[in-house]
Amino acid sequence: SRVPAYHHRLPAVHSVGKVPLGIKRKGLRIVVTGGAGFVGSHLVDRLIGRGDSVIVVDNFFTGRKENVMHHFGNPRFELIRHDVVEPLLLEVDQIYHLACPASPVHYKFNPVKTILNCVHKTNVVGTLNMLGLAKRVGARFLLTSTSEVYGDPLQHPQKETYWGNVNPIGVRSCYDEGKRTAETLTMDYHRGAGVEVRIARIFNTYGPRMCLDDGRVVSNFVAQALRKEPLTVYGDGKQTRSFQYVSDLVEGLMRLMEGEHVGPFNLGNPGEFTMLELAKVVQETIDPDARIEYRPNTEDDPHKRKPDISRAKELLGWEPKVDLRKGLPLMVSDFRQRIFGDHKEGAT
Ligand code: NAD
Ligand code: UDP
Ligand code: UDP
Repeated sequence: SRVPAYHHRLPAVHSVGKVPLGIKRKGLRIVVTGGAGFVGSHLVDRLIGRGDSVIVVDNFFTGRKENVMHHFGNPRFELIRHDVVEPLLLEVDQIYHLACPASPVHYKFNPVKTILNCVHKTNVVGTLNMLGLAKRVGARFLLTSTSEVYGDPLQHPQKETYWGNVNPIGVRSCYDEGKRTAETLTMDYHRGAGVEVRIARIFNTYGPRMCLDDGRVVSNFVAQALRKEPLTVYGDGKQTRSFQYVSDLVEGLMRLMEGEHVGPFNLGNPGEFTMLELAKVVQETIDPDARIEYRPNTEDDPHKRKPDISRAKELLGWEPKVDLRKGLPLMVSDFRQRIFGDHKEGAT
């Protein structure tokens, strides 16, 4: 049966795009898949804070209950342990689809078949199910895609119009190609079934509640510096990334969902750093004596990455506000507490 919940509320929702976020309005019912993860839990905080009702759907593959525990007992918050690879029946207005085992270490260094399969299956079957749900109830659907759809880019900085340079059979392809398929499915449901969709291409993001040992460079360097271990720089350390603080990303995702443009939109901070420069900022922030240790780089590692965010600036009125030197200290106290602390995880 088709329950066009979202369409009942069209007038209310449409007006949202025209008023600044945070202005009082009728609360929405929102699903956040992957809401117990790093980005998802910060998004949930903002949505709950704004007065909406939030259902988190998460199988805790890389997420943690601690990230959302502070909402337990709030009648506007619900947590469902569920794998999005299985069908799901809910009645909601909006779906933020973040669920994805997004930790590179899981598939770059332990290419265990079940894990690779899980990444691809979540991106393909999980996204299909959430689009099916959006179609059935008339909800608006937002996909969190990734800058990795550009692969090892031959265009710099990357614009949304760039089609990418991806190796379909490489060690990273379960993620890259999984997300590319998820984007395709999203556009198919938009064009074929009239589902209202939004696509964000997220560039490297960091902040409190990041997985401690997921192998991403910012979490690695911060944890290593705190533990007095050497910072592991892969390759010659001259490859670049552009690092975005999580609150900027969440603001961008919400503007995208509430706005009237499908996208895709690059959401990232154009401030570009080599890994050696990043190591230097970590040294300045945590421990000037932290040593650097070189390790061999992984296969297919993109040489550089930097978002062109003109589209998001123009159409969403969005740009990041927190640069690396301001953002890094904001995650250090959370990491310190989780590494050495008194198990008050998730608090920021
Ligand atoms: P994360 O690993 O912290 O969060 C992902 C969440 O999804 C976890 O809570 C995990 O348990 C859950 N999940 C995974 N598979 C699931 C499944 N089959 N069913 C239900 N839940 C499942 O990662 P994150 O950094 O918060 O990433 C969130 C989203 O943003 C992901 O889609 C990721 O691809 C995208 N993204 C993140 C970055 C970044 O730098 N953090 C960059 C590009 C894209
Ligand atoms: N689906 C879901 N929840 C819903 C509606 C659909 O999980 O509320 C799943 C459904 O099980 C299917 C997928 O979404 O596997 C795609 O659904 P759709 O109706 O688009 O395709 P069909 O079922 O016709 O193949
Ligand atoms: N990297 C590094 N040391 C680490 C982890 C990663 O030098 O301990 C490098 C990695 O080779 C890549 C960059 O940092 O060039 C970003 O890696 P990450 O896995 O964080 O993100 P992605 O490659 O997905 O952009």
